[in-house]
Amino acid sequence: MTFKYNKINAKCMWCKRTQNPHPDFLKETIPTKIFESKKGRMVELCFSCFEQEKAFAEKQKIDFKIILDTKLEVLKLLKL
Ligand SMILES: [Zn+2]
Repeated sequence: MTFKYNKINAKCMWCKRTQNPHPDFLKETIPTKIFESKKGRMVELCFSCFEQEKAFAEKQKIDFKIILDTKLEVLKLLKL
């Protein structure tokens, strides 16, 4: 699992963070990775959000890619 470090315009689509939370790298952007959802949408997530969703997917035995779509639709409904 490789996350991109110091990517220009990096932004986690879940927590909306753009800055690296690590105190040694505050001037860098947040490390993110683009995931493709089941419906083919591109979702950019930071490491901690990815870990959370992955753990949730495993616990609920739901495909991680389906979770991305579900969450995207919820965010859209709530206009977040
Ligand atoms: Zn995040």
